[in-house]
Amino acid sequence: MTPGAPDPLSGRVAFVAGASRGIGATVARHLAAAGASVAVAARSEVLGKLPGTIGSVAAQINDAGGQALPVACDVTSESSVQNAVDATVAEFGGIDILVANAGVLWLGPIETTPLKRWQLCLDVNLTGVFLVTRAVIPHVRARGGGSLIAVTTTGVGMTDSGANAYWVSKAAAERLYLGLAADLRGDNVAVNCLSPSRVVLTEGWQAGGAGMQIPPEMVEPPEAMGRAAVLLATQDASGITGTVQRSEELTP
Ligand code: NAP
Repeated sequence: MTPGAPDPLSGRVAFVAGASRGIGATVARHLAAAGASVAVAARSEVLGKLPGTIGSVAAQINDAGGQALPVACDVTSESSVQNAVDATVAEFGGIDILVANAGVLWLGPIETTPLKRWQLCLDVNLTGVFLVTRAVIPHVRARGGGSLIAVTTTGVGMTDSGANAYWVSKAAAERLYLGLAADLRGDNVAVNCLSPSRVVLTEGWQAGGAGMQIPPEMVEPPEAMGRAAVLLATQDASGITGTVQRSEELTP
């Protein structure tokens, strides 16, 4: 942010799904630093095997002078998503921005993919995006415009590298968002996909990255996604919409 410049997201409300750790937590912090009130949404209310809870991320933001609300949310549950969106609107008065970031990773080859892993990827990475998006649309429309962002992956385009449940679920989410951009243009809502340009070594990646060794030049700092999400969050349908963006290309 330029010193002295007004906060670009001042007065806006952002709902970040999957914000208890990793990229979502970083994005939530960046949106708050840009002036947005942020709903920190995920399942972890108490500390589990992985670090980070919705309460700890929201507390960090509030301690830094921002505004954040922890909201329990399982993106695979219609009622849980609705309750989380309702709690956000009750606290902050509306929603202008969605970052549909909640995701699970499964990179195993199709032949050795258990059905439950396939279904989990589709449930979280596709149905989860559908449920949170469907729940926030009426609120964003009521504000006269806003910005929806789905977090996807460069793996969608890697058709020379095989297939896995993760890439397939993210490809479907991209199709959902590209079409939705056209549907919501008349409502002044920007709809875009955003992915890291390279690998972000988050807790989720370390746990589910199939033991892959990532060379240092392929590693991206989480802040790149934070900056890119802020830029996309400031859009409406008169700006960037209907696109798939990469963090380091969008905000070099
Ligand atoms: P992460 O560290 O595993 O964090 C995943 C987040 O999603 C957590 O906050 C987790 O919270 C939440 N989540 C998982 N299942 C959920 C559910 N059913 N309901 C609500 N929240 C749920 O992963 P990450 O690496 O930060 O990835 C974040 C996003 O970026 C994902 O969509 C991922 O596919 C995408 N991405 C990451 C990379 C990378 O290099 N890391 C590259 C491309 C794309 P709870 O467990 O508390 O629910």
